[in-house]
Amino acid sequence: MAPGLSVRIRGGGIAASCCETLLAQAQVDYQREPAPRPKVPAVMLSPATQSLLTDVFARPDLFDGLHPIRRRLVTWGSSDLVALPHAAVVVSEEELLNRLAAAAPATGSSPASPSLESAPTWTIHASGATAGASALREFGARQASAAQVKLTAQADVYSCSMEAVPNGWLFLVPSSTETAWLLAAGDTSEALLAQSRQISQQIDRVTSGGGSFPAQPRIAESLCEPGRLACGSAAIAFDPLCGDGTGHAVREAILACAIARASQQEALDDLLWEYRLRLWSGFKRHLELCHEFYATGGTSDWWKAQRAAIEDGLRWMTAQQAPVTLGRYRLNGFSLERT
Ligand SMILES: Cc1cc2nc3c(=O)[nH]c(=O)nc-3n(C[C@H](O)[C@H](O)[C@H](O)COP(=O)(O)OP(=O)(O)OC[C@H]3O[C@@H](n4cnc5c(N)ncnc54)[C@H](O)[C@@H]3O)c2cc1C
Repeated sequence: MAPGLSVRIRGGGIAASCCETLLAQAQVDYQREPAPRPKVPAVMLSPATQSLLTDVFARPDLFDGLHPIRRRLVTWGSSDLVALPHAAVVVSEEELLNRLAAAAPATGSSPASPSLESAPTWTIHASGATAGASALREFGARQASAAQVKLTAQADVYSCSMEAVPNGWLFLVPSSTETAWLLAAGDTSEALLAQSRQISQQIDRVTSGGGSFPAQPRIAESLCEPGRLACGSAAIAFDPLCGDGTGHAVREAILACAIARASQQEALDDLLWEYRLRLWSGFKRHLELCHEFYATGGTSDWWKAQRAAIEDGLRWMTAQQAPVTLGRYRLNGFSLERT
Protein backbone atom coordinates (compact mmCIF):
# COMPACT_ATOMS: atom_id res chain seq x y z
CA MET A 1 0.00 0.00 0.00
CA ALA A 2 1.11 3.57 -0.68
CA PRO A 3 1.57 4.81 2.93
CA GLY A 4 -0.47 7.84 3.99
CA LEU A 5 -2.49 8.05 0.78
CA SER A 6 -6.19 7.16 0.59
CA VAL A 7 -8.77 7.98 -2.04
CA ARG A 8 -12.57 7.96 -2.15
CA ILE A 9 -13.96 7.45 -5.68
CA ARG A 10 -17.54 8.59 -6.24
CA GLY A 11 -19.23 7.29 -9.37
CA GLY A 12 -20.55 4.23 -11.14
CA GLY A 13 -19.36 4.88 -14.70
CA ILE A 14 -16.30 4.38 -16.86
CA ALA A 15 -14.17 7.06 -15.22
CA ALA A 16 -14.79 5.58 -11.76
CA SER A 17 -14.02 2.04 -13.01
CA CYS A 18 -10.72 3.26 -14.46
CA CYS A 19 -9.82 5.08 -11.22
CA GLU A 20 -10.56 1.94 -9.21
CA THR A 21 -8.31 -0.22 -11.39
CA LEU A 22 -5.48 2.31 -11.55
CA LEU A 23 -5.46 2.81 -7.77
CA ALA A 24 -5.63 -0.94 -7.14
CA GLN A 25 -2.69 -1.49 -9.51
CA ALA A 26 -0.71 1.21 -7.67
CA GLN A 27 -1.66 -0.34 -4.31
CA VAL A 28 -3.35 2.82 -3.07
CA ASP A 29 -5.94 2.45 -0.30
CA TYR A 30 -9.30 3.43 -1.81
CA GLN A 31 -13.03 3.14 -1.37
CA ARG A 32 -15.61 3.36 -4.15
CA GLU A 33 -19.10 4.78 -3.73
CA PRO A 34 -21.18 3.94 -6.82
CA ALA A 35 -23.81 6.45 -7.95
CA PRO A 36 -26.66 4.45 -9.54
CA ARG A 37 -28.28 6.03 -12.61
CA PRO A 38 -29.76 5.00 -15.97
CA LYS A 39 -27.09 3.64 -18.32
CA VAL A 40 -26.24 5.13 -21.74
CA PRO A 41 -27.77 2.77 -24.36
CA ALA A 42 -24.80 2.67 -26.74
CA VAL A 43 -21.40 4.27 -26.99
CA MET A 44 -19.12 4.17 -29.99
CA LEU A 45 -15.48 3.79 -28.98
CA SER A 46 -12.76 5.19 -31.24
CA PRO A 47 -9.51 3.26 -31.80
CA ALA A 48 -7.70 5.68 -29.43
CA THR A 49 -10.24 5.04 -26.65
CA GLN A 50 -10.09 1.27 -27.15
CA SER A 51 -6.32 1.44 -26.90
CA LEU A 52 -6.45 3.54 -23.69
CA LEU A 53 -8.89 1.11 -22.02
CA THR A 54 -6.86 -1.88 -23.15
CA ASP A 55 -3.77 -0.31 -21.54
CA VAL A 56 -5.51 0.58 -18.26
CA PHE A 57 -7.05 -2.87 -17.85
CA ALA A 58 -4.12 -4.74 -19.47
CA ARG A 59 -6.62 -6.77 -21.51
CA PRO A 60 -6.16 -6.82 -25.30
CA ASP A 61 -9.35 -8.89 -25.65
CA LEU A 62 -11.58 -6.27 -23.97
CA PHE A 63 -13.53 -5.46 -27.17
CA ASP A 64 -13.68 -8.89 -28.77
CA GLY A 65 -16.95 -9.67 -30.53
CA LEU A 66 -18.42 -6.15 -30.40
CA HIS A 67 -20.21 -4.68 -33.40
CA PRO A 68 -17.60 -2.92 -35.61
CA ILE A 69 -17.98 0.45 -37.37
CA ARG A 70 -15.68 0.69 -40.39
CA ARG A 71 -16.74 3.97 -42.01
CA ARG A 72 -18.15 7.34 -41.08
CA LEU A 73 -20.61 8.76 -43.63
CA VAL A 74 -20.95 12.52 -43.39
CA THR A 75 -23.57 14.66 -45.13
CA TRP A 76 -22.94 18.15 -43.83
CA GLY A 77 -24.05 21.61 -44.93
CA SER A 78 -24.05 22.00 -48.70
CA SER A 79 -21.45 19.23 -49.26
CA ASP A 80 -22.21 15.88 -50.85
CA LEU A 81 -21.86 12.68 -48.84
CA VAL A 82 -18.26 11.99 -47.76
CA ALA A 83 -17.18 8.50 -46.64
CA LEU A 84 -14.23 8.33 -44.23
CA PRO A 85 -12.55 5.19 -42.89
CA HIS A 86 -13.21 4.43 -39.20
CA ALA A 87 -12.33 1.59 -36.82
CA ALA A 88 -14.74 1.96 -33.90
CA VAL A 89 -16.81 -0.54 -31.93
CA VAL A 90 -20.29 -0.05 -30.45
CA VAL A 91 -21.24 -1.28 -26.99
CA SER A 92 -23.89 -0.47 -24.42
CA GLU A 93 -22.51 1.26 -21.33
CA GLU A 94 -23.78 -1.62 -19.19
CA GLU A 95 -21.94 -4.24 -21.26
CA LEU A 96 -18.78 -2.13 -21.24
CA LEU A 97 -18.91 -1.72 -17.44
CA ASN A 98 -19.43 -5.49 -17.05
CA ARG A 99 -16.40 -6.17 -19.22
CA LEU A 100 -14.31 -3.65 -17.26
CA ALA A 101 -15.40 -5.21 -13.95
CA ALA A 102 -14.42 -8.66 -15.20
CA ALA A 103 -11.02 -7.32 -16.32
CA ALA A 104 -10.30 -5.40 -13.08
CA PRO A 105 -7.49 -6.73 -10.89
CA ALA A 106 -8.61 -9.10 -8.16
CA THR A 107 -6.37 -7.55 -5.49
CA GLY A 108 -6.82 -4.20 -3.80
CA SER A 109 -10.44 -3.93 -4.92
CA SER A 110 -13.07 -2.14 -2.88
CA PRO A 111 -14.32 -5.20 -0.94
CA ALA A 112 -10.85 -5.39 0.63
CA SER A 113 -11.25 -1.80 1.83
CA PRO A 114 -14.96 -1.44 2.59
CA SER A 115 -14.36 1.81 4.41
CA LEU A 116 -11.30 3.92 4.81
CA GLU A 117 -10.04 3.98 8.38
CA SER A 118 -9.64 7.75 8.39
CA ALA A 119 -10.76 10.64 6.19
CA PRO A 120 -9.43 10.14 2.64
CA THR A 121 -6.59 12.30 1.35
CA TRP A 122 -8.49 12.77 -1.92
CA THR A 123 -12.03 12.42 -3.21
CA ILE A 124 -12.34 11.84 -6.95
CA HIS A 125 -15.83 12.90 -8.10
CA ALA A 126 -16.30 10.67 -11.14
CA SER A 127 -20.01 11.10 -11.78
CA GLY A 128 -21.96 14.10 -12.93
CA ALA A 129 -24.68 12.96 -10.53
CA THR A 130 -22.60 12.86 -7.33
CA ALA A 131 -23.20 15.27 -4.51
CA GLY A 132 -20.23 17.59 -4.17
CA ALA A 133 -19.78 17.92 -7.92
CA SER A 134 -19.20 21.53 -8.85
CA ALA A 135 -21.71 23.64 -10.81
CA LEU A 136 -21.26 23.33 -14.57
CA ARG A 137 -20.68 26.20 -17.01
CA GLU A 138 -22.69 25.42 -20.14
CA PHE A 139 -22.23 26.70 -23.70
CA GLY A 140 -25.59 26.42 -25.45
CA ALA A 141 -28.84 24.77 -24.40
CA ARG A 142 -29.60 22.06 -26.94
CA GLN A 143 -31.32 18.82 -25.98
CA ALA A 144 -30.73 15.61 -27.92
CA SER A 145 -32.87 12.48 -27.98
CA ALA A 146 -31.83 8.86 -28.39
CA ALA A 147 -34.11 6.25 -29.99
CA GLN A 148 -33.58 2.67 -31.07
CA VAL A 149 -34.41 2.02 -34.73
CA LYS A 150 -34.74 -0.97 -37.05
CA LEU A 151 -32.55 -0.63 -40.13
CA THR A 152 -33.71 -1.21 -43.71
CA ALA A 153 -32.28 -4.12 -45.69
CA GLN A 154 -30.20 -1.60 -47.72
CA ALA A 155 -28.63 0.10 -44.68
CA ASP A 156 -24.86 -0.01 -44.33
CA VAL A 157 -24.70 -1.71 -40.93
CA TYR A 158 -20.93 -1.15 -40.54
CA SER A 159 -21.06 2.63 -41.07
CA CYS A 160 -22.13 5.37 -38.71
CA SER A 161 -23.78 8.38 -40.35
CA MET A 162 -23.86 12.07 -39.46
CA GLU A 163 -26.22 14.39 -41.23
CA ALA A 164 -26.95 18.09 -40.88
CA VAL A 165 -30.50 19.11 -41.81
CA PRO A 166 -32.00 22.62 -41.80
CA ASN A 167 -33.28 22.42 -38.20
CA GLY A 168 -30.63 20.26 -36.52
CA TRP A 169 -28.57 17.12 -36.88
CA LEU A 170 -28.97 13.33 -36.87
CA PHE A 171 -26.39 10.71 -35.88
CA LEU A 172 -27.03 7.04 -36.64
CA VAL A 173 -24.91 4.36 -34.95
CA PRO A 174 -25.64 0.73 -35.92
CA SER A 175 -25.31 -1.54 -32.88
CA SER A 176 -26.05 -4.83 -34.71
CA THR A 177 -26.76 -5.96 -38.27
CA GLU A 178 -30.43 -5.01 -37.80
CA THR A 179 -30.67 -2.21 -35.25
CA ALA A 180 -29.12 1.18 -34.59
CA TRP A 181 -29.30 4.11 -32.18
CA LEU A 182 -30.47 7.39 -33.60
CA LEU A 183 -29.40 10.60 -31.86
CA ALA A 184 -31.21 13.78 -32.87
CA ALA A 185 -30.69 17.41 -31.81
CA GLY A 186 -32.57 20.56 -32.76
CA ASP A 187 -36.07 19.09 -33.08
CA THR A 188 -37.89 15.76 -32.67
CA SER A 189 -36.30 12.85 -34.55
CA GLU A 190 -39.48 12.57 -36.67
CA ALA A 191 -39.27 16.23 -37.74
CA LEU A 192 -35.55 15.95 -38.53
CA LEU A 193 -35.97 12.65 -40.40
CA ALA A 194 -38.53 14.40 -42.62
CA GLN A 195 -35.72 16.79 -43.68
CA SER A 196 -33.10 14.04 -44.08
CA ARG A 197 -31.61 12.94 -47.42
CA GLN A 198 -29.32 10.18 -46.20
CA ILE A 199 -30.13 8.77 -42.76
CA SER A 200 -33.89 8.47 -43.36
CA GLN A 201 -33.11 6.02 -46.21
CA GLN A 202 -31.50 3.64 -43.72
CA ILE A 203 -34.30 3.54 -41.16
CA ASP A 204 -37.23 1.16 -41.41
CA ARG A 205 -38.94 2.31 -38.19
CA VAL A 206 -38.33 3.63 -34.68
CA THR A 207 -38.69 0.71 -32.27
CA SER A 208 -38.29 2.42 -28.90
CA GLY A 209 -37.85 5.96 -27.78
CA GLY A 210 -34.99 6.71 -25.44
CA GLY A 211 -34.80 9.70 -23.17
CA SER A 212 -33.56 13.14 -23.98
CA PHE A 213 -30.33 14.55 -22.58
CA PRO A 214 -28.38 17.82 -22.70
CA ALA A 215 -25.97 17.89 -25.65
CA GLN A 216 -24.18 21.20 -25.16
CA PRO A 217 -20.53 21.21 -23.99
CA ARG A 218 -20.27 21.73 -20.22
CA ILE A 219 -17.36 22.15 -17.84
CA ALA A 220 -17.23 22.29 -14.03
CA GLU A 221 -16.61 25.74 -12.60
CA SER A 222 -14.17 24.13 -10.20
CA LEU A 223 -12.25 21.19 -11.66
CA CYS A 224 -10.12 20.64 -8.58
CA GLU A 225 -9.08 21.96 -5.21
CA PRO A 226 -6.96 20.50 -2.42
CA GLY A 227 -8.42 17.06 -1.65
CA ARG A 228 -10.95 17.04 -4.54
CA LEU A 229 -10.66 16.23 -8.23
CA ALA A 230 -13.60 16.22 -10.67
CA CYS A 231 -13.25 13.64 -13.40
CA GLY A 232 -15.30 12.28 -16.32
CA SER A 233 -18.70 13.89 -16.87
CA ALA A 234 -18.43 15.53 -13.43
CA ALA A 235 -15.62 17.61 -14.94
CA ILE A 236 -16.51 17.95 -18.61
CA ALA A 237 -19.46 16.78 -20.70
CA PHE A 238 -19.10 16.66 -24.46
CA ASP A 239 -21.46 17.23 -27.36
CA PRO A 240 -22.11 13.65 -28.57
CA LEU A 241 -21.91 14.87 -32.17
CA CYS A 242 -18.14 15.35 -31.98
CA GLY A 243 -17.30 14.22 -28.49
CA ASP A 244 -15.20 11.27 -27.57
CA GLY A 245 -16.61 11.49 -24.05
CA THR A 246 -15.48 8.03 -23.03
CA GLY A 247 -11.91 8.62 -24.18
CA HIS A 248 -11.79 11.89 -22.24
CA ALA A 249 -13.24 10.18 -19.15
CA VAL A 250 -10.45 7.57 -19.29
CA ARG A 251 -7.72 10.21 -19.79
CA GLU A 252 -9.08 12.25 -16.88
CA ALA A 253 -9.17 9.15 -14.66
CA ILE A 254 -5.53 8.41 -15.50
CA LEU A 255 -4.57 12.00 -14.72
CA ALA A 256 -6.62 12.25 -11.52
CA CYS A 257 -5.04 9.07 -10.11
CA ALA A 258 -1.57 10.25 -11.15
CA ILE A 259 -2.18 13.61 -9.41
CA ALA A 260 -3.33 11.92 -6.20
CA ARG A 261 -0.24 9.69 -6.19
CA ALA A 262 2.17 12.53 -7.04
CA SER A 263 0.74 14.68 -4.22
CA GLN A 264 2.88 12.73 -1.80
CA GLN A 265 6.03 14.27 -3.28
CA GLU A 266 5.04 17.32 -5.36
CA ALA A 267 3.75 20.81 -4.55
CA LEU A 268 -0.06 20.72 -4.47
CA ASP A 269 -0.53 24.06 -6.28
CA ASP A 270 1.62 22.91 -9.20
CA LEU A 271 -0.29 19.64 -9.48
CA LEU A 272 -3.73 21.25 -9.37
CA TRP A 273 -2.68 23.82 -11.96
CA GLU A 274 -1.43 21.01 -14.23
CA TYR A 275 -4.76 19.18 -13.81
CA ARG A 276 -6.77 22.29 -14.66
CA LEU A 277 -4.65 23.15 -17.69
CA ARG A 278 -4.83 19.67 -19.17
CA LEU A 279 -8.61 19.49 -18.76
CA TRP A 280 -9.10 23.01 -20.12
CA SER A 281 -6.94 22.14 -23.08
CA GLY A 282 -9.06 19.02 -23.86
CA PHE A 283 -12.25 21.07 -23.54
CA LYS A 284 -10.87 23.80 -25.81
CA ARG A 285 -10.01 21.23 -28.51
CA HIS A 286 -13.57 19.92 -28.22
CA LEU A 287 -15.05 23.43 -28.60
CA GLU A 288 -12.86 24.03 -31.66
CA LEU A 289 -14.11 20.81 -33.23
CA CYS A 290 -17.73 21.71 -32.36
CA HIS A 291 -17.17 25.11 -33.96
CA GLU A 292 -16.15 23.48 -37.26
CA PHE A 293 -19.36 21.44 -37.27
CA TYR A 294 -21.75 24.16 -36.13
CA ALA A 295 -20.21 26.80 -38.43
CA THR A 296 -20.79 24.64 -41.51
CA GLY A 297 -23.92 22.59 -40.69
CA GLY A 298 -26.60 25.06 -41.77
CA THR A 299 -27.78 28.64 -41.95
CA SER A 300 -31.03 28.56 -39.95
CA ASP A 301 -31.41 30.45 -36.65
CA TRP A 302 -30.87 27.17 -34.78
CA TRP A 303 -27.45 26.65 -36.37
CA LYS A 304 -26.51 30.32 -35.82
CA ALA A 305 -27.46 30.11 -32.13
CA GLN A 306 -25.39 26.93 -31.63
CA ARG A 307 -22.37 28.49 -33.30
CA ALA A 308 -22.68 31.67 -31.18
CA ALA A 309 -22.81 29.59 -27.97
CA ILE A 310 -19.64 27.71 -28.97
CA GLU A 311 -17.93 31.03 -29.71
CA ASP A 312 -18.88 32.19 -26.18
CA GLY A 313 -17.20 29.05 -24.89
CA LEU A 314 -14.03 29.71 -26.89
CA ARG A 315 -13.89 33.28 -25.54
CA TRP A 316 -14.35 31.98 -21.98
CA MET A 317 -11.54 29.45 -22.53
CA THR A 318 -9.20 32.16 -23.79
CA ALA A 319 -9.86 34.16 -20.63
CA GLN A 320 -9.28 31.12 -18.37
CA GLN A 321 -5.98 30.08 -19.84
CA ALA A 322 -4.05 33.33 -19.56
CA PRO A 323 -1.31 33.11 -18.43
CA VAL A 324 -0.59 29.57 -19.63
CA THR A 325 2.39 27.63 -18.32
CA LEU A 326 2.40 24.20 -19.87
CA GLY A 327 4.81 21.35 -19.64
CA ARG A 328 5.69 21.25 -15.94
CA TYR A 329 4.85 17.55 -15.82
CA ARG A 330 4.57 14.67 -18.24
CA LEU A 331 2.82 11.33 -17.93
CA ASN A 332 5.15 8.37 -17.97
CA GLY A 333 2.79 5.41 -18.20
CA PHE A 334 0.27 6.19 -15.47
CA SER A 335 2.64 8.29 -13.33
CA LEU A 336 3.25 12.01 -13.40
CA GLU A 337 6.86 13.21 -13.60
CA ARG A 338 8.39 16.68 -13.63
CA THR A 339 9.77 17.59 -17.06
C1 LIG B 1 -27.01 9.26 -25.31
C2 LIG B 1 -25.52 9.35 -25.13
C3 LIG B 1 -24.69 8.85 -26.13
C4 LIG B 1 -23.31 8.89 -25.99
N1 LIG B 1 -22.53 8.40 -26.97
C5 LIG B 1 -21.18 8.37 -26.82
C6 LIG B 1 -20.35 7.77 -27.80
O1 LIG B 1 -20.82 7.28 -28.84
N2 LIG B 1 -19.01 7.73 -27.59
C7 LIG B 1 -18.45 8.25 -26.46
O2 LIG B 1 -17.22 8.16 -26.29
N3 LIG B 1 -19.22 8.85 -25.50
C8 LIG B 1 -20.56 8.92 -25.66
N4 LIG B 1 -21.35 9.49 -24.70
C9 LIG B 1 -20.70 10.09 -23.53
C10 LIG B 1 -20.25 9.01 -22.56
O3 LIG B 1 -21.34 8.20 -22.17
C11 LIG B 1 -19.67 9.70 -21.32
O4 LIG B 1 -18.72 10.67 -21.72
C12 LIG B 1 -18.96 8.72 -20.44
O5 LIG B 1 -19.84 7.65 -20.10
C13 LIG B 1 -18.52 9.46 -19.20
O6 LIG B 1 -18.10 8.53 -18.26
P1 LIG B 1 -18.21 8.86 -16.69
O7 LIG B 1 -17.56 7.75 -15.99
O8 LIG B 1 -17.71 10.24 -16.45
O9 LIG B 1 -19.75 8.75 -16.48
P2 LIG B 1 -20.84 9.33 -15.52
O10 LIG B 1 -20.51 10.64 -14.91
O11 LIG B 1 -21.18 8.25 -14.58
O12 LIG B 1 -21.96 9.56 -16.59
C14 LIG B 1 -22.13 8.71 -17.73
C15 LIG B 1 -23.18 9.29 -18.62
O13 LIG B 1 -24.44 9.29 -17.93
C16 LIG B 1 -24.94 10.60 -17.87
N5 LIG B 1 -25.48 10.76 -16.51
C17 LIG B 1 -24.79 11.04 -15.40
N6 LIG B 1 -25.64 11.11 -14.36
C18 LIG B 1 -26.88 10.87 -14.86
C19 LIG B 1 -28.17 10.80 -14.32
N7 LIG B 1 -28.40 11.02 -13.01
N8 LIG B 1 -29.20 10.50 -15.14
C20 LIG B 1 -29.00 10.29 -16.45
N9 LIG B 1 -27.80 10.32 -17.03
C21 LIG B 1 -26.76 10.64 -16.25
C22 LIG B 1 -23.77 11.54 -18.12
O14 LIG B 1 -24.19 12.74 -18.75
C23 LIG B 1 -22.87 10.72 -19.00
O15 LIG B 1 -23.18 10.88 -20.38
C24 LIG B 1 -22.74 9.49 -24.81
C25 LIG B 1 -23.57 10.00 -23.82
C26 LIG B 1 -24.94 9.93 -23.96
C27 LIG B 1 -25.82 10.48 -22.85
